Amino acid sequence: MNNSKNVGNYIFGKGAIKELPKLLEAKRENGYILYFIDHYFQNRDLEIELKDGDEVFYVDTTDEPKTEDIDRFRDRVLELQKGIPNAIVSIGGGATLDTGKAVSNLLTNGGKAEDYQGWDLVKLAGVYKIGVPTVSGTGAEASRTCVMTNSKSGLKLGMNSDFTIYDQLILDPSLTKSVPKEQYFYTGMDTYIHCIESLNGRYRNAIGDAYSQQAIELVREVFHSEDMMSDENREKMMVASYLGGCAIANSFVGVVHPFSAGLSVVLGTHHCIGNCITMNAMEEFYPKEYLEFLEMAEKQGIEVPKGITKDLDDEVYQKLYNSTVIHSKPLSNALGDDFEQILDFKKVKEIFQKM
Ligand code: NAD
Ligand code: ZN
Repeated sequence: MNNSKNVGNYIFGKGAIKELPKLLEAKRENGYILYFIDHYFQNRDLEIELKDGDEVFYVDTTDEPKTEDIDRFRDRVLELQKGIPNAIVSIGGGATLDTGKAVSNLLTNGGKAEDYQGWDLVKLAGVYKIGVPTVSGTGAEASRTCVMTNSKSGLKLGMNSDFTIYDQLILDPSLTKSVPKEQYFYTGMDTYIHCIESLNGRYRNAIGDAYSQQAIELVREVFHSEDMMSDENREKMMVASYLGGCAIANSFVGVVHPFSAGLSVVLGTHHCIGNCITMNAMEEFYPKEYLEFLEMAEKQGIEVPKGITKDLDDEVYQKLYNSTVIHSKPLSNALGDDFEQILDFKKVKEIFQKM
């Protein structure tokens, strides 16, 4: 049975980021604070009151995190010759939040990031860490994983561990105001998709279901409304993302995420847009949700890209197939243990062709 852990503490509300200096006071003694901040904020004022000795590493989120990126950040910390930081603060979307989690674990556990891709391989608690999401939807702020791609092996898998969970969150909806509208929609849809996948799955859990149901309700309110990015809706979306992240710990995803992972590994498509591209081909598996997804995208004036697989040959389709059906846990959650009889090469190719 699952022995579930959640985030230690959180502060929620507009302007909550101003609480950060206070939270860090107790952590400063004989040490320094290390910040991972999304590169979008490089020349923008986040009002975080950096102190002498603090270190800021900007995270280039043009591509999603690779295990080598995490190792490189670890090396940069060691090159400072200041020891391990007393706290790590990550400010950004899922990619930056995951980077902070992974480096925190790596600094105390040693070795390389790839050594911890899997379940419960992290042996020691990482550096104390605070997460500050600036775009809502992945649930990375609440989940027990940090997704990284190992470009040598092609493995896209996180450090699934209780030690990966943030000790403290600052959930400040004013930070998501500047997110481009498309990105806001794609990332927000990640919550919806996680939750519909888990609610349609075979492995159910009453607490996971409750988190998922409430998260979906909030996403619906936001994406069926006139202005998905109003102050009130950005607040709702931040709550939905947090609840969706809590749900992941108690559930499995389904058909969408494995296909999206295939797109990511083979074509480099980012996670959240990849999910939306996949949703366009999911009528057969999630008919009601497929229609609702189209409705919400239309309402918000979002054009999900189409035709991204149109010029591919069978060699590429084979790669797509391999990197999709490898995800046996979510696929058997959705389709049963003999999912490979349903998803044979021909069928998987057909589904990708609809994208
Ligand atoms: P992201 O971190 O990839 O960022 C997307 C873009 O938004 C970037 O260009 C970034 O610069 C920009 N951005 C972020 N905040 C902004 C702001 N306030 N204003 C303007 N621009 C801003 O976004 P994401 O969709 O949140 O995260 C995707 C990542 O999360 C992927 O790497 C995926 O693998 C990971 N993920 C992790 C989990 C988990 O549980 N750990 C779950 C799902 C996805
Ligand atoms: Zn996701």
